[in-house]
Amino acid sequence: MSDTATLEIQPGRLFIGGEWQDAASGKTFDTINPATAETLTQLAEGGADDVDRAARAARTAFESDAWQKLDARKRGRLLYAIADGLEARADELARLETMDNGKPVKEARMIDIKESIDCFRYYAGWADKIEGDVIPVPGPYLNYTRREPVGVCGAIIPWNYPLPMAAWKVAPALACGNAMVLKPAEQTSLTALELARIAAEAGLPAGILNVVTGFGESAGAALVAHPEVDKIAFTGSTAVGKIIQRQAADTLKRVSLELGGKSPNIVLEDADVDAAVRGASMAIFYNTGQACTAGSRLLVHESIRDEFVEKLVKRAAGFVPGDPMDPKTRLGPLVSQEQLDRVLGYIEQGKAEGGNLLMGGDRVEVNGKRGYFVNPAIFGGVTSRMTIACEEIFGPVLAVQTFKDLDEALEIGNSTEYGLAAAVWTKDVRKAHVAAHKLRAGTVWINTYHNLDTASPFGGYKQSGYGRELGRHALDLYTQVKSVWVNLG
Ligand code: NDP
Repeated sequence: MSDTATLEIQPGRLFIGGEWQDAASGKTFDTINPATAETLTQLAEGGADDVDRAARAARTAFESDAWQKLDARKRGRLLYAIADGLEARADELARLETMDNGKPVKEARMIDIKESIDCFRYYAGWADKIEGDVIPVPGPYLNYTRREPVGVCGAIIPWNYPLPMAAWKVAPALACGNAMVLKPAEQTSLTALELARIAAEAGLPAGILNVVTGFGESAGAALVAHPEVDKIAFTGSTAVGKIIQRQAADTLKRVSLELGGKSPNIVLEDADVDAAVRGASMAIFYNTGQACTAGSRLLVHESIRDEFVEKLVKRAAGFVPGDPMDPKTRLGPLVSQEQLDRVLGYIEQGKAEGGNLLMGGDRVEVNGKRGYFVNPAIFGGVTSRMTIACEEIFGPVLAVQTFKDLDEALEIGNSTEYGLAAAVWTKDVRKAHVAAHKLRAGTVWINTYHNLDTASPFGGYKQSGYGRELGRHALDLYTQVKSVWVNLG
């Protein structure tokens, strides 16, 4: 099969207790190819009844001997087998993701699918290394701790990196011995269903991983409210993160939130301009700007602003929207009509508030199809008060601001409610580290952008959320500590 070949996609059903099932209501919804605006297939529209079945199946599986008596090393082997299953189908999964999400197939294969495989392998290695401590307490006592699984975990994930977002939650949760109910985003559920299939083929006991497709307000909200669910891991918008935190209070669930961003990308006057231009364009246009860490605010020192922007506009012109199934395409469509309307709305608002649109920002057709394509947009003359400098747009829209010195750059950089990521470009080691320490963000890049690895922690400051995914830090999200006292007297 060639790289550009599309796949025949079967209707999707819910995966509950190891079985493919229809929604209790019998309802389905369409999933759309963003490159063509055509329907790919129908998916079961899970609701509260289905979430209830899935949560109970997960509880039964969690408590079963098959899971409780499975030693940690064997749990690790199951995760390795899931990684192998993903790898065996990597090309097909990449095409499926591209048809469902619109991201360029080359990026889907080299980044999304590869990162997901890495994630399962990484946590497979952790499964038998989750240790407790022996604590020197006074008196004739032995005190030790056990790190036990939390129980049934609910994962609610977004549409921008569908399979990696599932992997970031499912892999550490299973490595720590939990069971899970996964609710993928309504726009991009197909690879989550394939993950469930691959996990079952790898030998994961029935009910340990359940997938309920459907809408956030119904299936997602039911998962957050369900008394059998002990923890919710959420990635998505800050607005929905707040709703989830409020709703989780009723059952006192643990919650971890990876939310939006408005990341500052700061270029100091001594930066390697060409490297920073390359970095800045990738920072905002990669994944069509639909990245929570997108470098959507470019802060350039006033002395190099004109040269920098001229080079950036030239480079951005190379990001031409194209058919995402073509391996040469670097800029795919936005994920949905809703997201297209949202992004075009921000572009209009940017113009109305006095921003100077230097290029792009218009909707375009590709291959004669009215998919959700937009030309990359760059705004100059932006001030911190403008909406496009404050709100997460989640599209290929860059706001350029200037500053006089490092202090001002850091002040502007820290001025939004978000704190997910930031970057600084400079040859001055002192300034680089001052910036890295003062920027209030969970990730800071120096002379680079968008680096991410399954071994390195990821998460937000401020309203970008809390809790750290990836690396050993994620083990804290999926375990709870028990203290055991033994009287040796
Ligand atoms: P949402 O935050 O609405 O969606 C993320 C996930 O949450 C989806 O699975 C969604 O389900 C689910 N969800 C929605 N409402 C609820 C609820 N009340 N209870 C439980 N789960 C819920 O993001 P959108 O898709 O609406 O995108 C809107 C904006 O959010 C984007 O423009 C972007 O700014 C931001 N965003 C940020 C992301 C990030 O990684 N930081 C990722 C995605 C979006 P469903 O999709 O089925 O409705």
